Amino acid sequence: METSILVIGGAGYIGSHTAVQIMNSGLSVVIFDNLSNSSRAVLNRIAKLTGRRPTFVEGDIRDRLTLRTTFKNHSITGVIHFAGLKAVGESEEQPLKYYDNNVSGSVVLFEEMQRAGVQTIVFSSSATVYGDPGYPQYSEDTPLAPVNVYGRTKLMVENILLDIKKSRPAWRVASLRYFNPVGAHVSGIIGEDPTGIPNNLMPFIAQVAIGKREKLLVFGGDYPTPDGTGRRDYIHVEDLASGHLAALNKLMNSDDNSPIIVNLGTGRPYSVLEMVHAFEKASNKPVAFEIVDRRPGDLAEYYADRTLAKDILGWEARLGIDRMCEDTWRWQSNNPNGYQ
Ligand code: NAD
Ligand code: UDP
Repeated sequence: METSILVIGGAGYIGSHTAVQIMNSGLSVVIFDNLSNSSRAVLNRIAKLTGRRPTFVEGDIRDRLTLRTTFKNHSITGVIHFAGLKAVGESEEQPLKYYDNNVSGSVVLFEEMQRAGVQTIVFSSSATVYGDPGYPQYSEDTPLAPVNVYGRTKLMVENILLDIKKSRPAWRVASLRYFNPVGAHVSGIIGEDPTGIPNNLMPFIAQVAIGKREKLLVFGGDYPTPDGTGRRDYIHVEDLASGHLAALNKLMNSDDNSPIIVNLGTGRPYSVLEMVHAFEKASNKPVAFEIVDRRPGDLAEYYADRTLAKDILGWEARLGIDRMCEDTWRWQSNNPNGYQ
């Protein structure tokens, strides 16, 4: 049987870009997704980009039997786990939904991995595990104190993986703490397709540029930053995808099997207004905005200390703000209604 990487949540935004890179590196992929926040249409797009259709299993990680069958039917050598709910506000309103999906779901997945003898996993964590340390540059030893339910689910899963590793040293585990993923595949064939009103900055800007929304509300113009708007470490999704490949390679091929926990960011923050202006330049469209009150829970500024990812994985982000905006615009203008 051909060996494959199991990409859980692989129909989603970051998972689909990572699946393409894995397939283009010569490995086979099985995508497992319940399609709760994605579309089956992405599979044809992935086929278009790679020349091969990934195997697809429609399933939920809380459904043990479907996972068990998947491990039985395929020769899986490693798992990348993207599946999760990710809306911070919703996580505060419906905590049990988040603990169930993100934490209980992960426990079932890890149990079924153990049962199947699959011991290599890369997990999608987030910079939200750091909370608000009082300074903007987060290294991996910044205190872990998430300030919302979503962040706590991510930290819980990181800790579960460390505990598994302690009890079963043969496991190989990596948790990747993403900063702010943006951008799309350079072809414009796959990209981010949020349902409803986007929560995140970049898809909102893109929808204003294409005329689907009237104007961007800029949350806060009085932060202690150079132009008064919040600053974040935006990272191109293609760089993020290559970070997963680097982590997977390290887990599968290195003699050192210590757990890996690293930030994936560029280390360079941009303000909301810098993003707006870069997007206007890339799209040649105006992006109307209005500065309104701060959004509760937002911080003025944070960005990654990216030293450790470079040291451990030999990985660093390559693509800058222009490519982030150009690629988002290509995806948005070629697919005004996403995958529909
Ligand atoms: P996404 O929603 O596009 O992808 C997640 C995928 O998982 C979706 O296809 C969804 O249908 C699937 N899924 C959700 N629950 C599932 C379940 N119980 N069983 C099977 N499939 C399930 O999100 P994304 O932006 O690609 O994020 C991927 C991962 O990265 C998430 O875990 C997210 O928390 C994490 N992350 C994202 C960001 C971001 O800003 N996009 C930042 C940091 C971390
Ligand atoms: N932001 C904004 N308007 C929006 C969405 C976001 O001004 O409609 C700002 C937000 O306050 C933050 C930055 O853009 O400073 C990035 O927000 P996003 O929600 O994309 O990611 P977060 O940093 O919250 O994870």
